[in-house]
Amino acid sequence: PDTTPPHALESVSEEFRDKDAIIYYGNRIKYGEFFDYVCRFAGGLSEYLERGDRISFFMPNCPQFNIGYFGALSNGMIAVHTNVMYTERELEYQLNHSGAKAIVTLDILYERVKAVLDRTELEYVILTSLRDFISPSARRFIPMLHEQEIREKENVLYFNDLLKHSPKKPEKDLKPEDVASLTYTGGTTGRSKGAVYTHRNLMIDAKIFSACLDIRRGEDVFSGLMPMFHGNGIWTSNMNVFMNGGTVVLFPYFDAGEFISAIETYGITQIHCVPTHLVAIVNHPYSKTANFSSVRVISVGSAPVPVELLKEVKALMPNATVIEQWGLTEAAIIGTSNPVHGVIKVGSAGLPVPTVEMRIMDPGTDNPLPPGEENIGEIVLRSKKIIREYWNDPEKTREAIKDGWLYTGDMGYMDEDGYIYIVDRKKDMIIAGGFNIYPSEVEEVLYMHPKVKECAVIGVPDKYRGETVKAFIVLKEGETATEEEIVEFARKHLASYKVPRIIEFRDELPKSPVGKILRRILREEERKKFE
Ligand code: ATP
Repeated sequence: PDTTPPHALESVSEEFRDKDAIIYYGNRIKYGEFFDYVCRFAGGLSEYLERGDRISFFMPNCPQFNIGYFGALSNGMIAVHTNVMYTERELEYQLNHSGAKAIVTLDILYERVKAVLDRTELEYVILTSLRDFISPSARRFIPMLHEQEIREKENVLYFNDLLKHSPKKPEKDLKPEDVASLTYTGGTTGRSKGAVYTHRNLMIDAKIFSACLDIRRGEDVFSGLMPMFHGNGIWTSNMNVFMNGGTVVLFPYFDAGEFISAIETYGITQIHCVPTHLVAIVNHPYSKTANFSSVRVISVGSAPVPVELLKEVKALMPNATVIEQWGLTEAAIIGTSNPVHGVIKVGSAGLPVPTVEMRIMDPGTDNPLPPGEENIGEIVLRSKKIIREYWNDPEKTREAIKDGWLYTGDMGYMDEDGYIYIVDRKKDMIIAGGFNIYPSEVEEVLYMHPKVKECAVIGVPDKYRGETVKAFIVLKEGETATEEEIVEFARKHLASYKVPRIIEFRDELPKSPVGKILRRILREEERKKFE
């Protein structure tokens, strides 16, 4: 596509002027209004920032995110996606790494911003509140926090004040190759890296998603569950919606009961989520009686997807096509997808999407491996849509992109039909007594146990075997189980070296704000015990 997201939004907003663009706690924002807000915000912002300046968005999903994001891009400014779970230390690092000059955030997050303000290059804090776009009658019950204290500060601006500016249309000379955003990676394996997205990156994937998810222009209602401060949400809660005249129901946080009732109330047709969302939905008491008939497509990815879970979802929502997808921030973002109209292979992440060429590389020789389950290697891909670089990090860029091929750090194999199977992350592989064990395979088996709700498998230090397999298990509501029972079950389905030697029952597992289970945190906890 040779247009840019703000220009594309302008024409979509003309076409769908009176249609709902955003639904947020019952409040509906039509396309005409939405684009007007975008232009007003852009006008307000242009009083303070210049083209190319970085502006951080440090907040969960709410209309201000969509408005602010398109407003910044339409001025040629660069959006920085900042994870709301960041501690002061991580926030300070990212603000300095990106060189952000302004930050858009919520009153409830202001304390964290204030704490690091003097150690960053931030010139402006643009403040808003989750109450701002809910219905006026409800708003007065939720006062803006800290208002008195910060009103006097000269570097604090109010989002709502910027919206009073006269509208400013997207810059005419924005080019597809201009940088649009710095999208920091999920930080599952270590410190987040700033993936540089151009306007073209954003447009290409919006187009690819439209085809892969069978999006119906002007008709679909999307689940705005995936946070926009993460790569996945940029499309699924934002670009995919507005480039297609769809409606997004935004959720600042996930509550399975609320989400199920929103599906019924608004007739959500497209759900894009991570496996843990689906685990919560299928195990929620409302799901037994809820009407899911509006749901047409469910795409799930971002983390290993247990086959058992897909079966449960299909049983609950028989009208929906349930597909697994795989991708990563650096690929901006989708890599493979099962086809909505075509052969869906349960257990596979699907086929490479348009523009993507894929290889499985032997980690020892760095040569491509042929198809076959026994030929597990690192997944690498080439496409005009992968990022050109990480922001300010030539070394990490060189490690990840070699001769135009992106080394994903994920291990997998390809079958004879070209379908990709994700085995696990290279960094999560357990080596026990010389055997390679992929935690996802062990987790798949544990999910088959009828009492298991969630699980995570890691390697823990072991005197004899180097590492040994440990499983953390969350049981379904009201269930009890013994360690022996779980081990016995695993033994029936796994070679003995893969069977967890240690089981720990937990009430919950550590998760990233996107909902990915963080094996890294569990590993750190275990390491500390051994120190
Ligand atoms: P970081 O790169 O900072 O460690 P991250 O890898 O979580 O964090 P993201 O770009 O958010 O960064 O996530 C991409 C990763 O998510 C993929 O590399 C892969 O490991 C995992 N993933 C995505 N889809 C799937 C899937 N369908 N099955 C298994 N894993 C998946």
